[in-house]
Amino acid sequence: MNKPRVAIFDFAGCEGCQLQILNLEEEVLDLLNLVSVVEWREGLSEHSDTYDIAIVEGSITRPADETRIRQIRDRAKILIALGACATQGGVNQLKNSMGAETAARMVYGDAANSLHLQSGRVKAVHEVVPVDYSIYGCPIDRREFSHVLRSLVMGKKPQIPEYSVCVECKRKGNVCRYEFGEICLGPLTRAGCDARCPSFGLWCYGCRGPVVDANDQAARDIMERYGHTVEELEERMGLFGAKEARGGVEV
Ligand code: SF4
Ligand code: SF4
Ligand code: SF4
Repeated sequence: MNKPRVAIFDFAGCEGCQLQILNLEEEVLDLLNLVSVVEWREGLSEHSDTYDIAIVEGSITRPADETRIRQIRDRAKILIALGACATQGGVNQLKNSMGAETAARMVYGDAANSLHLQSGRVKAVHEVVPVDYSIYGCPIDRREFSHVLRSLVMGKKPQIPEYSVCVECKRKGNVCRYEFGEICLGPLTRAGCDARCPSFGLWCYGCRGPVVDANDQAARDIMERYGHTVEELEERMGLFGAKEARGGVEV
């Protein structure tokens, strides 16, 4: 049986999701028995324009990025968006609300005027080309990456949780961050990280994106019960663009 040819690409992002693939360590060797990696700037010197599965990290910010991602889409049978930058714009989308010029001035000061930055509105990959599968999180969960790739090789649909982080958090017996006076996005966020942040004493900041059919009324009730406002909750959603990813629907 021919192994599926896999190509990994990066756009605007910190490359932390690709690092998570490398962090699979010995399991990477196992995966290499299932697929042929034919393009990967971080891991290979070879190059190929022929591949079955394209894995795309990072968000789309420049006109040249749009041309490139369309070309990748044309060449791939399956396209996977990898990580929060690719699936919903990630932290990069923070600049959308302030505008690219203001963001450039904040980062580069007066030097921004002399730079030829082409960075425009940040887009998730699916805003430019159709995406077949998404691996969520900032960074991704490497076990989920392995699961998705193995499922596709076996011709199965990968199982990505469609319930909230609270389910995993309760399963682990964590004390809820609301009991510590914090605001946690767990009730509105897609599970799959094993409630990573609340398990280490942090509130969930929504990096895996909004859970489908979130129980907004329950989230509103929690805010009221713990003396917070829905506006505070929505402000927290700005970091990873969760509100935009909900189609702008208010909680
Ligand atoms: S999702 Fe997070 S870890 Fe992945 S590339 Fe973007 S910023 Fe980096
Ligand atoms: S709100 Fe946050 S801390 Fe509380 S149960 Fe849900 S995920 Fe856990
Ligand atoms: S708990 Fe929330 S912020 Fe932390 S990894 Fe999971 S989804 Fe991301």
